[in-house]
Amino acid sequence: MAFCGRVQGCICIVSTGELFCFLGEARINNLLRTPCHSGRKGLEMKVVITGSGSSWPDPDRSSASHVIEVGSEPLLFDCGPGTGMSLMKAGINPTAINRIFLTHLHMDHSLEVPSLIFESYLMGKNGKFDLYGPTGTAYFCRILLEKVYPYAPEIVGRIRKEGLKVTPHEVAEGLVCQTKKYRVLSAKTEHGIPGIAFRIESGKSAVVISGDTRPSKSLIRLARGADLLIHECSFPDDMIEFARTTHHSVPSEVGEVANQAGVKKLVLTHLFPQCKGREREMVRSANSKFSGKVIASHDLLEIKV
Ligand SMILES: [Zn+2]
Ligand SMILES: [Zn+2]
Repeated sequence: MAFCGRVQGCICIVSTGELFCFLGEARINNLLRTPCHSGRKGLEMKVVITGSGSSWPDPDRSSASHVIEVGSEPLLFDCGPGTGMSLMKAGINPTAINRIFLTHLHMDHSLEVPSLIFESYLMGKNGKFDLYGPTGTAYFCRILLEKVYPYAPEIVGRIRKEGLKVTPHEVAEGLVCQTKKYRVLSAKTEHGIPGIAFRIESGKSAVVISGDTRPSKSLIRLARGADLLIHECSFPDDMIEFARTTHHSVPSEVGEVANQAGVKKLVLTHLFPQCKGREREMVRSANSKFSGKVIASHDLLEIKV
């Protein structure tokens, strides 16, 4: 037995090589049974895929990032290279973003965090940023703002009294944050480094973002009954061995995840350049396991929930 460290007070066992978090599972099950009272009437959620790409440069796809607008508030999920430009193309003002959620700390999901924060302050943003992510997020935040780019807080402080305030929150499985409009839940993923998926709920509507992962039981649990699952689908099916090695997923696996979770709609994202021209084939493959609608994402794709 061992303490898992992901959830305070949790004692876990190691079975079949996987650390199984009892308290984390119980907590997420309880939360999912409890209706979301945030946004009681259910505010409309608009998903904008601001980055449908991966860790390879791609002329047509920015690296991973997604915006979910709940009512008028944009929430940013992942912030890979190209996010700032995509936000501007989508007509989303970076100064309106107060909360950034990171699924994990690989560069294609986090590299643009410091510049986006700095730029939005230069553009006139007031208040503070809350940065949510897995274990390591506080260190990531401190090193970047104190050691690598110390000039950023300094310059902002010179321009505006309130200075640069970024509050990191390390989260694991359970409730991430809750407001009157929405709540955000998380569950662990399987990507070789600490990683989490997010479920965003307003009223009875729910959207789930997987981040990078192999097919994951805790993600299936988190996504149960969601209106929309945005799941990474890095490579076509004939690259499954490479996907296993690199802790990613292929369309037939993602279709099975969507099927088991009972979601209404599935979006395939985090597409490597090897997927180019094969998107229809990948959608068909996912649909061989999942009868709901499947969409291959592209930059600036918008979906209303
Ligand atoms: Zn990635
Ligand atoms: Zn990754």
